[in-house]
Amino acid sequence: MSEKTVIPAQAQLVVIGAGPGGYTAAFKAAELGLQVTVIDPEANPGGVCLHRGCIPSKALLHVAKVVNEAEESAAIGVTFGKPKIDVDKVRAWKDEVVGKLTGGLGMKVEHKKLTYVRGMAQFTDAGTLLVTASDGTEGEMKFEQAILATGSRPIMLPGLDGGSDLIFDSTGALDLVDVPPTLLVVGGGYIGLELGSAYQAMGSKVSVVEMTNGLLPGCDRDLVSVLKRRLDVKFESILLNTKVAGLKEMKSGVQVTLEDKKGEQTQQKFAKVLVAIGRRPNTENLGLENTGVLLDEKGFVKVDGQRRTAEKNIFAIGDIAGEPMLAHKAYGEAAVAAEAAAGRKAVYDPRAIPAVVFTDPEIAWCGITETEARAAKRKVKTAKLPWRGVGRTLTLGREDGITKLIIDPETERVLLGYDWPGNIRQLESAVERAVHLSEDGVLLPVHFDIGDVTPVSDDRPFLKNTVNRTLEEIVEEVESRTIADIFASTGGNIRQTAKELGVSRPTIYRKLRKYGMIDH
Ligand code: NAD
Repeated sequence: MSEKTVIPAQAQLVVIGAGPGGYTAAFKAAELGLQVTVIDPEANPGGVCLHRGCIPSKALLHVAKVVNEAEESAAIGVTFGKPKIDVDKVRAWKDEVVGKLTGGLGMKVEHKKLTYVRGMAQFTDAGTLLVTASDGTEGEMKFEQAILATGSRPIMLPGLDGGSDLIFDSTGALDLVDVPPTLLVVGGGYIGLELGSAYQAMGSKVSVVEMTNGLLPGCDRDLVSVLKRRLDVKFESILLNTKVAGLKEMKSGVQVTLEDKKGEQTQQKFAKVLVAIGRRPNTENLGLENTGVLLDEKGFVKVDGQRRTAEKNIFAIGDIAGEPMLAHKAYGEAAVAAEAAAGRKAVYDPRAIPAVVFTDPEIAWCGITETEARAAKRKVKTAKLPWRGVGRTLTLGREDGITKLIIDPETERVLLGYDWPGNIRQLESAVERAVHLSEDGVLLPVHFDIGDVTPVSDDRPFLKNTVNRTLEEIVEEVESRTIADIFASTGGNIRQTAKELGVSRPTIYRKLRKYGMIDH
């Protein structure tokens, strides 16, 4: 018989939840000399991200990438047979990836001599936890400081809280029980589009229903339109301004009632339904009511710049401490909270947090979006650099891509860059350091150059000479070259040029006149 869990009676620092926030904070605090206890229901650290979120979905997205590339290569003269998906093997491989990563973290826990209790914790007051181990053992633990990192969980449609075999959330979709012939994805956000893309590539006919008037609300529309053009081809349908008014499980699928903006209802049947309509913080069942910890109006734990809650010895980090619910935001907060817990001076104050949607094409951004700027009535200038003119993107079949910079017209500082994920760290650095284009001849050219794909070359000489030039000059040069390239390639067709650049005809007329490419 296995031994009962020993619950330590005392902890200098207890970390509740061992996802990216929790394990990062725990390791950092241990390195800083604190005696750390971690409590989490899983056998190994990893949280949603590693066990049933980012990592398994990235594994499935890799499968999708392989399938898509094989399919697309027919257009360049390389034809493969129709892919055969061995679902059991894909699932086993995905589980192996998860096992390796979480197992590695388990070993790190031992190596760093942390105390790891598999179980759940509840505050009985601001210095005491009631810990219930997974084997049923209960014990009281006194702590000096605590870091709350309990993450978030998917929101389900009303009345469907537990989900079922046919109607599931991201966890159910990532279990990859099978590849259903038809799949309805409810919610056109990060999860819906990533997992919808993975299932489509593995063979499901995927439809998406999105309540608002566009996919990925919050992301700039010109970027989303590049993605939507491709998804329109891959998915069976993308229904915007539509919500699910009813779901009825049948023997062989789910009868779904869809309701459009006018209130008109239609019914369709799908083999399975994935609900991906957002996530909510895990603040329940923690006994927070027995402490002075406060929640904000959205249900997140209120924290200060060090991630201290209203109870000064209790910190909160990651999804439970506010949006964006992204693992790398949790890493940043974790480092600050651990340092503050160890008595060091630290503050969490990022200018911009990068975000990447791992669809095909991927969209990556960092900073304030044009949409957010306009909503806040903040004046911004944009520089849009279509990839069409860059040789390497043509060889990759990615000429529909765009790099976009949002710039403060007063200070000429970069506020946001959209680019591809490989480049997002540089963009983050540009936004964080409030890079001034005319002062920084090295960093931004990398962006204009769409990162590691195209070396700075003689056909883009402006890239070599950005020092001491104003932003206006650089942007105009990039813009005029791009427009000239596209205008020439369309044989001087103004309507086509406007379409390729994703701008209106009056805009392109104005620009062509400005750059002396037409005289009227
Ligand atoms: P989301 O907020 O990205 O998207 C939810 C979508 O569902 C929205 O477009 C919303 O308008 C729509 N919606 C809400 N209620 C609806 C309804 N009743 N019917 C139809 N549509 C409805 O949320 P998500 O996709 O569930 O992801 C949750 C969070 O997880 C994200 O905000 C993100 O922080 C994180 N995440 C990140 C990544 C990544 O970094 N690549 C990947 C997956 C998830």
